[in-house]
Amino acid sequence: MGDAACELIATIPIREYDGVMSPTNRSTTTNPPASADAPKAASTVGMAKSLATSMAKWAAGGFQTLPQEIHDARLSACEGCKYHEAPRCTLCGCYTDRKAWLPHEDCPIGKWPG
Ligand code: SF4
Repeated sequence: MGDAACELIATIPIREYDGVMSPTNRSTTTNPPASADAPKAASTVGMAKSLATSMAKWAAGGFQTLPQEIHDARLSACEGCKYHEAPRCTLCGCYTDRKAWLPHEDCPIGKWPG
């Protein structure tokens, strides 16, 4: 497995490891306020499924990454987004800096440039 694959696997949400992590390094991410028509924050199970699916798609695509300028444009959109709690998106649970490199990924509310 290459370095890039290892880095992405390292982005598995900390909450996935609640049974083994120490109290000092747990995530304190909070979700945005809920409203009837607001997008829902990612669940732990949903994030795990999404990560597995994303890794499979990335592997099937030969572990390709996007050019720097597309990555940067995506991150720029995240930085101004109300769902971004750096370093993660509270909607999908992904680490945006890592997700922004992957050609098959997209923003859950369509804010990334196409
Ligand atoms: S991926 Fe989309 S919803 Fe999530 S923080 Fe970035 S712009 Fe916002």
